[in-house]
Amino acid sequence: MNKVGFFRSIQLKFIIIFILLLLISTQLISAYFARGLETELNDNFEQSINASVEILKVNLTQAFSKDRPEDGNGPTLYQEVQDIVTVNDTEDIHNIQVVNMQSRIVASSDNTGNRNIGKKMTNEIVRNAVLYGSQEEKKQYNSERNLVYVRAVPIFDDEETQVGALYIEASLEGVYSQLENINQIFMQGSALAITVSIFLGILVARTITKPIMEMRKQAQTMAREDFSRQVNVYGKDEIGQLAESFNNLTAKLQHSRALTEEERRKLSSVLSNMSDGVIAADRNGFITLLNDAAAELLGKDPEAAQGSLLLDVLQLDENEVDISELPDNGSMIIDFSDDEAIFLIRAKFSTVSDEEDDITGFITVLSDVTEQEKVERERREFVSNVSHELRTPLTTMRSYIEALSDGAWKDQEIAPKFLDVTRNETERMIRMVNDLLQLSRMDNQNHELKKGRTNFIDFFHHVIDRFEMNVTNEIELKRDLPNGTYDVWMDKDKMFQVLDNVISNAIKYSPEGGTIRFRAMKQQGQLLVSVSDEGMGIPRDKVDKIFDRFYRADKARSRKLGGTGLGLAIAKEIVEAHHGTIRAKSKEGKGTTVLFTLPLMNTKRRGQ
Ligand code: ATP
Ligand code: MG
Repeated sequence: MNKVGFFRSIQLKFIIIFILLLLISTQLISAYFARGLETELNDNFEQSINASVEILKVNLTQAFSKDRPEDGNGPTLYQEVQDIVTVNDTEDIHNIQVVNMQSRIVASSDNTGNRNIGKKMTNEIVRNAVLYGSQEEKKQYNSERNLVYVRAVPIFDDEETQVGALYIEASLEGVYSQLENINQIFMQGSALAITVSIFLGILVARTITKPIMEMRKQAQTMAREDFSRQVNVYGKDEIGQLAESFNNLTAKLQHSRALTEEERRKLSSVLSNMSDGVIAADRNGFITLLNDAAAELLGKDPEAAQGSLLLDVLQLDENEVDISELPDNGSMIIDFSDDEAIFLIRAKFSTVSDEEDDITGFITVLSDVTEQEKVERERREFVSNVSHELRTPLTTMRSYIEALSDGAWKDQEIAPKFLDVTRNETERMIRMVNDLLQLSRMDNQNHELKKGRTNFIDFFHHVIDRFEMNVTNEIELKRDLPNGTYDVWMDKDKMFQVLDNVISNAIKYSPEGGTIRFRAMKQQGQLLVSVSDEGMGIPRDKVDKIFDRFYRADKARSRKLGGTGLGLAIAKEIVEAHHGTIRAKSKEGKGTTVLFTLPLMNTKRRGQ
């Protein structure tokens, strides 16, 4: 926030108001005072002049009434009048003229020689005084442009006969210069008062602006989320109360901020400890928050992903998907798979709304459903495989049974063959159903292994012996087995099943005159058993899949050989139930080796 300039400040406003108030009051006072003073001074002036005029009148009356000796000794009347005039010529009354009844000047205070004596005065008020005996006075400007007070009065002798008139002129300059002096004093006083009021204005304004400035600063600090400071409370007035409310507000804000911060921390710890990914986006679909799990699932940097579009991050096409419709659909599975691995994410969408039910944002919860989906897919595949595998023998049997019921049963040659086929198919189905049952029991972990200590080498010889008796096709069975004791804790029947399947596969896929090698050796505390043939082999990309249920590398061929594709799947379950591992190595056209490990028992314990 910018600082308030002096010309916009409360201080200046206060000063202006103070000065205006003062100016108005001094002007009003001085107007009334000057008017009163002027009248008073004028009245006083006139009274003093009139008093002088009365004395002059009395003196002149005496002079005019005096008897004078005939011989002319002593001063003449006009000399005496001139003396009176001269004596009374004061600073105030600076011009005194005495005229006779012809309006001619008989005595004058003008002492620049007796120039005016005998001259006729044409002044109107003098004429009126001579002619009508009237007393008049007025203010006028004289020849030197000074304001003067003039007065003319008739003069009588003691017999009340008019003998002439007296004219006086008194300067008013003294009065007005006195008034001016007083006005000047007034002006100086006002100037002083204005100067003092400016300082007072500043002082008063500061008592108001200082707390306000402090609150302004505090508000700025609060805007920077710093609530640690308090403003000073200078009094109990309105501003003091405002400051107190301000401090209350600060405390409340601090408290609610602390609460929000705590909630935020809780939320963020919940979010970061969640195994599900959470993404929050604003109503335009821009990401505002992305927890660690979401960042890891999507392979993004949480900081960098903020601000990008939710649809982009989820690799959804903006043109096909409308973000506001996503929450209605509940959830969707997004395929993030690449050439190397399948990766499926389930995204659940929901909206965040405000009090007016307007959408303010979206929350997306992500979970890795790759495994779940894989299992689901496998389950679907399994059901479809089972149905398919069961249908094939059933269809074959139906056609043979139909042929029999259509009359073939009478044919002594064909009937036994047809019945043979149906029996074979039935046996195949029973075998398959048994295999499936066994797998299902193993899946549900409700099979019990009847384990016991067994020397695997003896057991292995025994199994190979059984095959040796039945083997045809000139296949050579070669044993590469060590002497000695290799004890394994195992279920003999189940292990027989494993070897039976692996060996019959080797025989099944061996060419005529091929050799099958049996090996067993100790490796890293475990027994490694292998069965190798010189058969057709398995393509490299299919080797790992032969342990999957119903998987057959060459469907047509293995079905012809009577397999269902469950043998190795069962073998794998059994080996794993014995804490071992099973795998296959193969070279197309050269042969296949199936290897499995079993944990060896501690030989030292033997005989204890
Ligand atoms: P089943 O054992 O249930 O009678 P199967 O032998 O076809 O049927 P598996 O033993 O599970 O099923 O074998 C799966 C597939 O692996 C076979 O169909 C075959 O394609 C391939 N396979 C297994 N062993 C060999 C081998 N020694 N040489 C070549 N291919 C093999
Ligand atoms: Mg098999």
